[in-house]
This record gives sequence, structure tokens and C-alpha cells, in this order.
Amino acid sequence: MTVHSKDLFVSIVGKENVKDTQAQMLAYSYDATANFQAKPDLVVSPRSTEEIAEIVKVCAREQIPIVSRGSGTNLAAGTVPSKGGLIVLFNNMDKILEVDKENLTITVQPGVITQDICNFVESNGLFYPPDPSSMKISTIGGNVSENSGGLRGLKYGVTKDYVKAMTVVLPDGETLKLGGKLAKDVAGYDLMSLFVGAEGTLGIITEITLKLIPLPISKKTGIAYFNSLEAAAETVSAIIADKIIPVTLEFMDKGTIGAVEDFMKIGLPLDAEAMLLMEQDGNEEQVERDIQQMIRIAELNGATSTALASSNEEAEVLKTGRRAALSALARKRPTTILEDATVPRSEIANMVKAIQQISEKYDVQISTFGHAGDGNLHPTCLTDVRDEDEMLRVEQALAEIFHIAIELGGTITGEHGVGEMKAPYLEWKLGESGIRVMKAIKQSMDPQNIMNPGKMFAKETKMRLVINNGQ
Ligand SMILES: Cc1cc2nc3c(=O)[nH]c(=O)nc-3n(C[C@H](O)[C@H](O)[C@H](O)COP(=O)(O)OP(=O)(O)OC[C@H]3O[C@@H](n4cnc5c(N)ncnc54)[C@H](O)[C@@H]3O)c2cc1C
Repeated sequence: MTVHSKDLFVSIVGKENVKDTQAQMLAYSYDATANFQAKPDLVVSPRSTEEIAEIVKVCAREQIPIVSRGSGTNLAAGTVPSKGGLIVLFNNMDKILEVDKENLTITVQPGVITQDICNFVESNGLFYPPDPSSMKISTIGGNVSENSGGLRGLKYGVTKDYVKAMTVVLPDGETLKLGGKLAKDVAGYDLMSLFVGAEGTLGIITEITLKLIPLPISKKTGIAYFNSLEAAAETVSAIIADKIIPVTLEFMDKGTIGAVEDFMKIGLPLDAEAMLLMEQDGNEEQVERDIQQMIRIAELNGATSTALASSNEEAEVLKTGRRAALSALARKRPTTILEDATVPRSEIANMVKAIQQISEKYDVQISTFGHAGDGNLHPTCLTDVRDEDEMLRVEQALAEIFHIAIELGGTITGEHGVGEMKAPYLEWKLGESGIRVMKAIKQSMDPQNIMNPGKMFAKETKMRLVINNGQ
């Protein structure tokens, strides 16, 4: 980046909204993903869509890579500026702009923290369901760009199900407004969906309107422990087969239970092989009926003990325990690699078994937790990036996990996105024609490849060789 371009960015956003020291570049050289790092040339915090449009026009003219960065909590190296260039932050664009109670929508800037949206609408008797475990720090712009899911995804869906409208600055600096506060709109291609989950590779989202729903009147939380992973997985399938769609059906294996208990001291039993956290919400009668039935199904499928949370506080502690699973595991070894292979619900038992076998085969420590009701598992590898031999085995183990997930009818990522980390595997899921269509879209919208370059599209197919050798 030339001194002249830096001066132009300073003139657009003001000196106080530019970071350029080496220490600052180091701070923005990585995100929540282990083992990926690259320094940007400059970091800017624009204050409006107009400033972002000006910034992008300079980048387009000077061919400067742009990486949009919310809170940097993504787990696929999606905000690592692997080609250098400019990082755009949204800390100056963190306002809730409007709540529309007639159309049941909220309009926000991209830098608003997810939890703040939830708290704000709930204080108005409304509900924004998508609740990634990182919601206390993640931004809504990041959630939309990753199409994030959460503990409530089984019943309420994921972020894409709530995006009604957005403003995007395109790679040439033009501003595009999409969608509206409409229940129905089929005018043209569904362009808005293209930007949901695009990981900042097609444009910068500068304003978002989200759908809200009424806040459920009541909820109840139950818990079941099992002495086998299969019994827990079979309980998940049995609950859904009984035509109950719980708001939450979360799974933790023995390693995760131990790590969470060690971290939080909330009384989880250390001898259990698996735990299911179950929650239902809705009207009181249905909630009571469903939660009792889920407990019964767990017992019929071999739960060694079950319990109902006696208060909202107790339920919150259990859910916080589940949300803290990654942080708890991360304390165990120097490096944590969290994956999110996802399979059809009916294949959970097979996937969990396969993960265990792979862990033994490659002699790597893998604990698993996740959104069992969604088939979205988080095999979490506890390792040490300094140990080259172990890292090679980790890479082989993860490649094999993705491979098996796809064989079982699943995918390489259910919610964390592709970023740089999973780019080499994307073709396994989409096939050559899927990649060709994606490349055609990217090429037509961003011909200079300035929007988050190095993400989604693999440079090489190294991982394919790893899996072939590993089998
Ligand atoms: C402890 C922990 C728990 C997690 N739990 C979950 C979970 O339960 N479910 C889940 O889905 N994910 C989870 N994640 C992953 C992560 O938190 C989510 O992907 C989240 O949506 C990222 O938000 P962010 O603000 O940190 O975005 P970032 O990490 O900063 O960015 C994510 C991607 O979005 C792009 N981007 C950001 N803002 C914009 C914008 N305004 N316009 C265009 N592109 C943009 C970035 O370029 C990047 O590609 C977890 C992560 C951690 C560390």
C-alpha cells in the first residue's frame, strides 16, 4: 500500500479512526483460528456507508485487498489478511437504528454485538432467535456474513432465516440496497442470499434489517446423562421421530463435560460418557408436555440420570456451561482447533463413532460437543502447533472427519464457514461444477479479487493428497 493511498484513507475516515503501528498490525494479523497469521497494511474504522463506499473506490482503483472484520471470532481464518491490504472495522458502526413493532423488524449497523440485539428486543417483548455461542462478542455483520447458527437453531433456524434487508457496498464502490420489511418478495434473483454467508468476499454489508418474532411465554430446560455416546445420539433421533422439535438439543461428550466442569464447577458428573441439554419454549402447557416427554424418551434410550432445571437461573447455568465448551477445552492444551462437520440428524451416532475411531487412529485428542438436533457437531482437537508431527496427524484426522461427514450425506461446515482454512475442502462438497459457478459469480462481481482475497477458493488441493495418503 502506498503512502498516497494511506493518506487518502486518513482523509476519508479521519486520523483518529486509523491504526497503523506495527503493534496494531500484529493485533489484527490473526483471528480465533489457530495457526493462521498475516499482517495488514492499515486498519480503518469508517463511520458510515458513504465512507465505506469512498474507501472501496480507492481500493478498487489501487487494487488494495479489503478484509471486513467484525469481532474476529470466526474459526476459519476468514479475517486473516493473507494478502495484506486494508482491514475495515465496524466499531464506529454499532448502532441499533430502528425497531419496527408493526412489521416486526429491527434495523442495525453491522458492528452491533449479537447479544445486545437479543437483550434489546427481549426488553420489548420480542425475540431474535439466532444465538451463536460467541454472541456476547460476535457482531451481527459477522453473523450474517457467516450465516451463523446457535443453540436455538433446531426450532428457529439460522441467521439467514432472519435477514430481511441489507445495504451492501460492492467491490467497485457502488452501494446496493436489497430486500425490505416485506413478508414476500420474489422480484428477480435472490441477491440478498448471495451476501449471507459470503464471508466478505462479495461486498461490505453496512446495514441490516432483521426479522423479529414474539418472545415465547415460557421455557423449560432438562438434562440427561448417558454412559454411551450412541445412547445419547439415539435419544436425539427418537425425540425428533416423536414429532417434538425442541428449541435446543445440545450434546457434550465426556472430554467436554470434564473440561466444562473443571472450568465452571457447576456439578456436572465426571463419569458420564455423554450429556444432552434439552430445552423447549412456547406456551406453558406444550412446554411442560414436551419437556416431560423428552426426559421419558431419554430414559427409555438408556439415560443413567435425568433432571429438570428447577429455575431459570439453573437453566442459564447449564446453557452457559454448554456455551463455554470451547473456552473450557481451550484451557487444556496450547492449541485448539474447532471443527463443525455436519451430518443428517439420523447419522449423528455414526458420525460420533467415526470421530472417536479417527481420534484413536491418528493418536490425537478430540473432544466433541455441538448442536445435536441440527446434526452439527464440533469435534475439537486439542493439540500443540509447535509439534510438527502431531500437527500433521491433526490435519489428516480433520481431513478424514470431513470426508466421512460428506460420505454420510453431510457437509464440511454447518455454521463456521470456509474462510482460508477450509477452502481446500470446499470442492469435496460442491464438486467441480459448484466451484465453477461460485468462481463465475465472484469473477463477475469482483473481477480484481479485492474483497477478502484468499478465502473460499483454494490455491491448491494439498488436503486431497493428505486424505488419500491417510487412508
Ligand atoms: C467461542 C466461540 C464460539 C462460537 N460459537 C459459534 C456458534 O455457536 N455458531 C456459529 O455459527 N459460530 C460460532 N462461532 C464462530 C463465530 O463467532 C461466528 O462465525 C460469528 O458470526 C463471527 O462474528 P464476528 O463478528 O466475530 O465476525 P468476524 O470473525 O470478524 O468475521 C467473520 C466473516 O465475516 C466477514 N464480515 C464481518 N463483518 C462483515 C461485514 N459487515 N460485511 C461483509 N463481511 C463481513 C469477515 O470478512 C469474515 O469473513 C464461535 C466462535 C467462538 C470463538
